[in-house]
Amino acid sequence: MMTDDVLEMMKTGVQALSILTIIPIVAFALWLDYFDRKVDAQLTVNEFNLEASLRTLHVAFLWTFMLEILLFAAARPIRIHYPFYTLTLFLGAIAVHALIMLRADKKLRSAIPSSEAHRGIAGRAALWISAAVFGHLTLLSLFIVPGYYSLQLASTKPVIGLLAIFASLVGGLCAGFLFTFSVAPLLIRKVFQPKELTTGPAFDIIQECFKRAHVKAIAVMIIDEPDKRRYQATIAGLSFMPGPLAPSLFISQGLIDMTSERQLRAIILHEVSHLALKHFRSRLIYGAGIIAATLCILAIALGLAVAYLPPFFVGIVQITSIVAILVLPIRLMKQQILLQEFQADEYATFKLSAGLEAMESALTLVSKLNEIPLAIRAGAHPSTNERIAVLTAIENQLNKVHTIDEDKNSDIKRAA
Ligand SMILES: [Zn+2]
Repeated sequence: MMTDDVLEMMKTGVQALSILTIIPIVAFALWLDYFDRKVDAQLTVNEFNLEASLRTLHVAFLWTFMLEILLFAAARPIRIHYPFYTLTLFLGAIAVHALIMLRADKKLRSAIPSSEAHRGIAGRAALWISAAVFGHLTLLSLFIVPGYYSLQLASTKPVIGLLAIFASLVGGLCAGFLFTFSVAPLLIRKVFQPKELTTGPAFDIIQECFKRAHVKAIAVMIIDEPDKRRYQATIAGLSFMPGPLAPSLFISQGLIDMTSERQLRAIILHEVSHLALKHFRSRLIYGAGIIAATLCILAIALGLAVAYLPPFFVGIVQITSIVAILVLPIRLMKQQILLQEFQADEYATFKLSAGLEAMESALTLVSKLNEIPLAIRAGAHPSTNERIAVLTAIENQLNKVHTIDEDKNSDIKRAA
């Protein structure tokens, strides 16, 4: 039984902890204010360096973030009596911390003048990411609550309890990914209000691409914004979803207007290659796989920490595990998307015969129209230079094989 004295002490502890949690956030915000003024001064004398400033910002963020984690580790007695409160408090603090950092990061990047088109892309990306993260986190929290109660079960029935935690975390994270993938077409329809394309020369080219790749034709939606031009084509949606969640090809009117027939065909063949190679399905399977794998590794790390480390460090391992579970799968997914872009380029160019020249000119044109420098990666996509370099290397390889074959043939002819 807890005596009144201990209870009173705990209550004071909770209050103290709540205040202490805010301190690293305030410290970071105050430092940012000073840093902002420094950046302004640098901008006026033209000595601003984006790379260096970003590095300074990230280092400052990491230091104050570490303070937060140390605090969580040190608050062990309170954590034991008020586990749900302390966990919510710290996850909230980490979220606020990250938000402040992201805003500062965005502000720094926009400090150097960039084109309207580029800012448009940044805005769209922000919308996508925030919507996806929100859905993701909502679903995750639905699964984390049973997971938390399983944690208490784990103290009496460890095996069942741990399995329940594992299942609820994998379930929550997978549900998050599934959610993000499924709502993508709906989100695009809501944000850009595209119109379906059903006739015309562009429609005919697109239908021919579906046929060439032997994939089922999907709805073609034209995005035409009155005040802004975008030059994009993308497929969103999972094949087994119905109605407005079904996969669609979204293409901007600007892209159709500005490309030649060959360039448009190359672009659409790239998109269609994603379908032919079943990239969306493998993204889901891979996503679930890395989530399960990440959790396994973290569970082992946590188990080892509990067994061999003093309680203070166990807290650190705990909180870093939670952050890692949220961050690692997304990072790994990005890497897979990057790989799939190269695969789709290769498939479209060589298997579906878009041709290197057409693909190269299409990629370069799209970059130029969107005012994205050829060497810069946009989102999870490789840079245009990287894509062209990979395709050229493949073409050279193919030519080499071809030349060897021809040499052999001529040798045979000579011998004959
Ligand atoms: Zn692609």
